[in-house]
Amino acid sequence: MLRFLSLLLCGLGSSTAVAQVLVEKEAGVAYTYEQVITAYQELDQRYTNALYLEAGQTDCGRPLSLFLIQAEAFSEEQSLNQLAEGKLVSLINNGIHPGESCGMDASLVWAQELLEAGGPSPGQLIAIIPVYNIGGSLQGRPNTRANQNGPQIQGFRGNASNLDLNRDFIKGDALNTLSFWAIYQALSPHIFVDTHTSNGADYPYTLTLIASQKDKLAPSLARFQQEEMLPYLYQGMEETWPMIPYVNVFGRVPNDGYAAFLETPRYASGYTALFHSLGFITEAHMFKPYPDRVAATLEFLRVLQDFSEEHAAAIKTAYADAQQWEAQTEHFPINWELDSSDVRSLSFRAYDYAYEPSKLGDYQRLKYDRSSETTLEIDYYPTYKAIAKAGRPKYYVIPGAWRDVIQRLQYHNIEMLPLSEDTVMEVYSAYLKDWSFAESPYEGHFRINVNSIRPQKQKRRFLAGDYLIPSDQDHAYFLATVLEPLSVDSYLSWGFFNSIFQQKEYFSPYIFEDRAEAMLEADPKLAQEFEAWKTANPQLLQNPWAVLSFFYQRSEYYEPEHLRYPVAVIR
Ligand SMILES: [Zn+2]
Repeated sequence: MLRFLSLLLCGLGSSTAVAQVLVEKEAGVAYTYEQVITAYQELDQRYTNALYLEAGQTDCGRPLSLFLIQAEAFSEEQSLNQLAEGKLVSLINNGIHPGESCGMDASLVWAQELLEAGGPSPGQLIAIIPVYNIGGSLQGRPNTRANQNGPQIQGFRGNASNLDLNRDFIKGDALNTLSFWAIYQALSPHIFVDTHTSNGADYPYTLTLIASQKDKLAPSLARFQQEEMLPYLYQGMEETWPMIPYVNVFGRVPNDGYAAFLETPRYASGYTALFHSLGFITEAHMFKPYPDRVAATLEFLRVLQDFSEEHAAAIKTAYADAQQWEAQTEHFPINWELDSSDVRSLSFRAYDYAYEPSKLGDYQRLKYDRSSETTLEIDYYPTYKAIAKAGRPKYYVIPGAWRDVIQRLQYHNIEMLPLSEDTVMEVYSAYLKDWSFAESPYEGHFRINVNSIRPQKQKRRFLAGDYLIPSDQDHAYFLATVLEPLSVDSYLSWGFFNSIFQQKEYFSPYIFEDRAEAMLEADPKLAQEFEAWKTANPQLLQNPWAVLSFFYQRSEYYEPEHLRYPVAVIR
């Protein structure tokens, strides 16, 4: 807090937009998106080793801003790839939920601090996205966050298309996401931070932290994160704003223990884990005074920067080892569940609480007592186990017709080899066996939960322009995540292949009845199968369509495309 206040005082003496934003923050006056951007533009003008860029579009029609800092002056025109080449790269994303603006302010202060001190060490590149959800930020108003303690004006969680951008990293509906992909893939950051404000339970900590779930990371990164990085970060925060792992409870108290948060690939740090960034999500607690939340987030950025400078070589080694793991591993995890057998003890400062009858309804309401704090040893569950893994095929084969998916792969620089002529190939296809559709849309998609598939080896005709995708390339983990049908965040699960769920050709019952009788006579095995079906489905015997469908689906007329996941593999 002291450091933050002294910085504010420095700011007061200056006439820069940075100072202006900070002064207004301290007073609880609303910032604007424009103020933040102007402040970064001023830093760009003032420091040769600062660079303000506009990097792609967002859904609201305003460009996504990116701010870079390095040790040396930015000189001639260089691409992001070239600027990042060989450097240790950190990417900080702010305002994905613009009502959670602590990181937007903290990053601005931190950028100014770094520049005043001459910039980071040579060989480091720091990239800051000042405001990611610009559309939501422009909707700022006093009441978007029902329980949050300031600031006066709070941005709105939905972007201009009413999407939660922190669920959009795989499906990429928003232009913001396409711009992010381009920035991220060009920079290939070693370290990634996404700044937030939390809701949920009440507790004394101002800052909580999600580190990318270790069990989703390449082994070298998981080890480095657990043994080197997290101990340093928690220790480094101890004196100022002691942190605790993100308090992952809703509708109950944390005092009985809780589990680590699993950020699947749809989330920012879930996405970046697929490409071997060491990802972090800061969650400042919504009840704490706004300047405290900014100060705690700022302190985290400082401590993380200290770690990065001290451990640059080790971070790069762990990253290179992760790439090697990706090149060699034969099985990628694609779905997880909590491992309740791995329980650790966590020292947790907790508020006392009580349940008392609600005056509104017939239930017990939860009330925390902030005047009464106890340190408890609670159960903490840090581990998730993979419940599905994807084998590495030689090739995925995707028909060119699935343009929306192909475009998303192209955004990720996936090498795809178009067939030069129509070709019949022996492939494995996956037929969907058990699945369920969501009853209502989630982030613009009716999601599909695919529980099981039936692999089938078959000869399939592919057309000139269809793509072979070798899995022996960078981003094999990403490919497995988006293309394997059982993956929790596959494009199949997001509804990109929904047309396969509908049969296109049918039969006329009055004439197919004769055909079915002939099939039954000709095939004793089919007759047996039919008897079993009748025993299992007595209620369907009065339904001619159901009975005849049994035969149609076993006839040569039934289309192989029905319920066949279009992406085949060659093993
Ligand atoms: Zn958030």
